[in-house]
Amino acid sequence: MSRANDPQIKSWIPTPENTDFPIQNIPFGVMQVDEDMFAAVSRVGKYVIDLTYLQDNGYFVGLNLPSGIFHKSYLNDFIALGKAQTQAVRERISDLLREGSSYTDLKEKTAYFMLPVEEVKMSMPVRIGDYTDFYSSREHATNVGTMFRDPANALLPNWLHLPVGYHGRASSIVISGTDIRRPSGQTKPPTAEKPTFGPTKQMDFELEMGFIVGKSNALGTPVSIDEAESHIFGMMLFNDWSARDIQAWEYVPLGPFLAKNFASTLSPWIVTMEALEPFRVAGPQQDPEVLPYLQTERAHNFDIQLQVDILLPNGQTSTVCKSNFKYMYWSMAQQLAHHTIGGCNMKVGDVCASGTISGPTPDSYGSMLELSWKGTKPLSMPDGTQRTFIEDGDTVILRGYAERDGVRIGFGECLGKVVG
Ligand code: MN
Repeated sequence: MSRANDPQIKSWIPTPENTDFPIQNIPFGVMQVDEDMFAAVSRVGKYVIDLTYLQDNGYFVGLNLPSGIFHKSYLNDFIALGKAQTQAVRERISDLLREGSSYTDLKEKTAYFMLPVEEVKMSMPVRIGDYTDFYSSREHATNVGTMFRDPANALLPNWLHLPVGYHGRASSIVISGTDIRRPSGQTKPPTAEKPTFGPTKQMDFELEMGFIVGKSNALGTPVSIDEAESHIFGMMLFNDWSARDIQAWEYVPLGPFLAKNFASTLSPWIVTMEALEPFRVAGPQQDPEVLPYLQTERAHNFDIQLQVDILLPNGQTSTVCKSNFKYMYWSMAQQLAHHTIGGCNMKVGDVCASGTISGPTPDSYGSMLELSWKGTKPLSMPDGTQRTFIEDGDTVILRGYAERDGVRIGFGECLGKVVG
């Protein structure tokens, strides 16, 4: 276990109680300095830590980093250095910023490398080459199958044997805070004879988490299940916005297309797998037994509490979902092993998303489709209105954190406002 994970460590940077970003987290992100200047950053409490300053002033000496590795628009080159180096940086940041640090001169230089988070504009942390969305929550797949097909056969025959997924669209993944324009498209209610065109009437979120591929594999060379986690750099929150009425009409037979490709929102901080290691848990029992290339002895799930809030146009907030990443039937390791088993080459910076993470109870469903049960059970909002889907002016905020031994490792916010 990384020494940066020690629950006893405290930072000399003032750190609020219940922050997502104690010194045990040390996530990575990219801030926009001006129009065409970016810098890699980390975060402790309410402060963003400028890694370019720390490198340029000798605080990463001995880590064998290429010069200028943090003066970049994206983290891809840093991530591609490999876990030995990226984790050495994480541990060095921990050494620099912990109470009792031997780097005492750094406390005189806070004005140069610590920025209040409210003064920082975060940007996309990675250049995403490809994006794949899985469908790995049994509860979600069962709910959707029950609503759209047949309660008796909610899961299709392949579902328990392989992690179902589809290739999504990387170009429309946006950073948290970006407004989301309500898409228009073709829809056809079951009772209508012909399709019509117009703005979606069933704008939805999907509570998901994404992982960033941290190590490429060559075309034709699968990543084994036991190697898979060494190919994952870290995780983020991911809202896979969905237009349900467009989806229902278009998705047969090749799966989602325009209903999903207009936008997905990513949270700005990548939490490394090493920071999440203390929260590793076993996944659900898999029955029937999966094929050997998907089998593993190791616990591959993570106990990460998740929440979805709707911020209403009048400023009031309604928490509509509380779920947990540990409900995932298929693990990230299984997703990556399956994705590459035919020889597909994954590249550093690729994103794989989990699929909607629904839990077993109705208040843990990860989409409005399920929460309102296809629009039949409207949710009451604190401003007196009701919601079956997301309205213009609503802001959807995903949050997530893991907690143990008094240490909380969180992801911040994944936020998007729907505009007409
Ligand atoms: Mn999805």
